[in-house]
Amino acid sequence: MATKQIPYKIYLSEEEMPKAWYNVKAHMKTQHPPFVNPATQKPCTASDLSPVFCDECIEQELNEKDERIAIPQGILDFYRMFRPSPLVRAYYLEQLLDTPAEIYYKFEGNNTSGSHKLNSAAAQAYYAKKQGLRSITTETGAGQWGTALAMASSFYGLHLDVYMVKVSAEQKPYRKEVIRTYGANVIPSPSDTTEAGRKILREFPGTGGSLGCAISEAVEKAVTSDSCRYVLGSVLDHVLLHQSVIGLECRTALEKYGVVPDTIIGCVGGGSNFGGLIAPYMGDRLDGKNDIEFIGVEPASCPSLTRGKFVYDFCDSAKITPLAKMYTLGCGFMPSANHAGGLRYHGMSPIVSQLYHDGYIRAVSVEQTKVFEAAVMFAKCEGILPAPESAHAIRAAVDEALKCKAENRKKVILFGLTGTGYFDLAAYKQYNDGTMTDTVPTDADLEKGFATIPDCPVNKGLL
Ligand SMILES: *Cc1c(COP(=O)(O)O)cnc(C)c1O
Repeated sequence: MATKQIPYKIYLSEEEMPKAWYNVKAHMKTQHPPFVNPATQKPCTASDLSPVFCDECIEQELNEKDERIAIPQGILDFYRMFRPSPLVRAYYLEQLLDTPAEIYYKFEGNNTSGSHKLNSAAAQAYYAKKQGLRSITTETGAGQWGTALAMASSFYGLHLDVYMVKVSAEQKPYRKEVIRTYGANVIPSPSDTTEAGRKILREFPGTGGSLGCAISEAVEKAVTSDSCRYVLGSVLDHVLLHQSVIGLECRTALEKYGVVPDTIIGCVGGGSNFGGLIAPYMGDRLDGKNDIEFIGVEPASCPSLTRGKFVYDFCDSAKITPLAKMYTLGCGFMPSANHAGGLRYHGMSPIVSQLYHDGYIRAVSVEQTKVFEAAVMFAKCEGILPAPESAHAIRAAVDEALKCKAENRKKVILFGLTGTGYFDLAAYKQYNDGTMTDTVPTDADLEKGFATIPDCPVNKGLL
């Protein structure tokens, strides 16, 4: 129990900032199954991955041993610009809900890119530069990742090509301009600049694109260009590792006041922000040192954890990436046009998937209009206009706090507020106009996605 009065914002000094990331895999008794090379059906080796990813990131990706992985000074120099991020005691939200619960949120939207993604963008751009590469490529869905990577590429002096999901590029022209302002090149996807893009355009003429499809284009560009690698904004273990700064900062800040969360909540797209937020607490949980409840929140329109299958699948829709064992809706699943662009991904981080499979994580899915109801409530009482993705976590936190009220039970809730909603005003307009709808895929819709899961030896237990 807290002994001191807890301030509205809990600050950390530069000295208190984490100097190493936290690798939760060092505490997992069951590691997630390895990535598999689709051509050989054998586990991916570092040399399978090296045409696509930077060497240092591959090393981190495959590291299951070291709990602490030092953050290089060159990355700390950049983190200093936007970290620590605020940790806030949501006194006004508690008051509004009239709940006995204590609610805290960690706000990652206080940088120009507007989300947590800059934590990994900084690291990946730094390592690309250190390796002597000239350029990097990536995809962006809602635009946050592309913006984050544009900022990081500019800071470290790298050329960047961003394949931006076409519907987002059209809906968010200002997002695109921020990316260009930082010097990166934006290509709406699917495009005719890659084999993968041309194929998707033939199969789905007029499609607004998807994250999976943009990933395929960026990977193809990386492996067919000199001195270029691909960087991914979520899903992979090294991205979760970089995002562990979120959880580490929370733990240091809360420990100053003797606060330990009972429940930690995060939205899950590819799973990196949630994985990073919970990392140090999950490590302790796996060692039997706490009994924290971890809740991942996903959109009902793209329910990979709550309705997906735990199988090997491609990470992209053109089936050119390695196979990952994860909860997936099928790499060919096309989610409906939901506003939570950053959560529209068919798969899920293998780490989060394994922890969910082993019963350490609970998952809930929420519908879009309920999410915006919570977003507006939060904007009014806490003063921050949340990103639609982040509002999924708000919704779940509010529901938990209301449950505490109904049961007259005290509880400490921590949730990740991943970003700002400044670039999502078209979504807010729809909500304010009363024209927002909820689309939940039917079982038949999901079956169509499941049919695109590869019918390969590893999925028949023949690895
Ligand atoms: C990308 C994004 C997400 C999804 O994050 P994951 O780490 O992939 O789960 C959530 N919120 C915001 C604001 C984002 O930009």
